[in-house]
Amino acid sequence: FAKANGGNQVQIYEKSLQTKAIETFEIEQELKSALKREQFKVYYQPQVDQSGKVMGAEALLRWFHPEKGYIPPDVFIPMAEQNDLIIEIGSWLLDTTIKEMALAIQEGNSYELSVNISPRQIVQKDFVEKVLSILKKYNVPANKLTLEITEGIFLKNIHDIRNVMHQLSEKGLKFSIDDFGTGYSSLSYIKSLSIHELKVDRVFVQNITTDPDDVMLVETMLAIANHMHYKVVIEGIETEDQVNFFNKYEGLIFQGYLYCKPCCFNDFIDYLGKQKRD
Ligand code: C2E
Ligand code: MG
Ligand code: MG
Ligand code: MG
Repeated sequence: FAKANGGNQVQIYEKSLQTKAIETFEIEQELKSALKREQFKVYYQPQVDQSGKVMGAEALLRWFHPEKGYIPPDVFIPMAEQNDLIIEIGSWLLDTTIKEMALAIQEGNSYELSVNISPRQIVQKDFVEKVLSILKKYNVPANKLTLEITEGIFLKNIHDIRNVMHQLSEKGLKFSIDDFGTGYSSLSYIKSLSIHELKVDRVFVQNITTDPDDVMLVETMLAIANHMHYKVVIEGIETEDQVNFFNKYEGLIFQGYLYCKPCCFNDFIDYLGKQKRD
């Protein structure tokens, strides 16, 4: 009996693996046409200072598939990063977010914008020209834009990337290290690059009120940032207790569900506007 049962389990296991593979294949195929079928949307998640004032927003890509429903970026971004799709999608996202910012500026609203950039995007030959030409097209000042990159970007082509960061920084753009402390690269990169901001990842924030190891790690990150004159964004703030913990320090920016979940452009502008009236 046990053997028969075991045989069954193996079958179920294999089936689900196969189903998974088919699903992945389908999503990869659909991804190729998602852009021209206008299935992508940009959501914005507000970033606030310690008094709760909205300073800016992070743009987050959303894929709403007509049959499959919402497909999270953690699923499709890695797929898009395996080929040049990420370049097309990334250009579209930059164009859309800068266009929307120009609209907001026209209506008297101002904010800082952070955009996630993949390794494959930043090593394109014309990346610098591309970014600058979009800013120019919509007449948006370069110092409104922060590019979020992850440490993994420095594992390859560090030389080219240093150049790109230097050139764009000269024009007023800022660079943020996303998911700081979760990558595998050595810390030495921070000495020679134009970095303006660190984002403390949610994994260090989740248990900050109970885990002394997280407290030590976060304090170390804050010490590095302070020494290097980097801005610090704390990601994934969900509770008042977490805010109370971080309010022991000064000059931090908060981002998390406690303040606002990522939302469409109009809702973000409403959120900005509500604050103005308070
Ligand atoms: P990320 O850049 O670290 O973005 C932060 C993620 O944390 C977002 O997930 C956001 O919705 C989520 N988050 C924010 N506050 C909270 C909170 O309080 N609690 C919890 N549990 N989660 C919170 P999302 O939107 O699913 O994005 C996941 C990742 O996908 C991003 O991580 C980023 O690496 C990637 N991604 C998203 N949009 C883009 C894009 O346009 N380009 C590229 N290259 N990557 C993107
Ligand atoms: Mg990010
Ligand atoms: Mg992050
Ligand atoms: Mg992340």
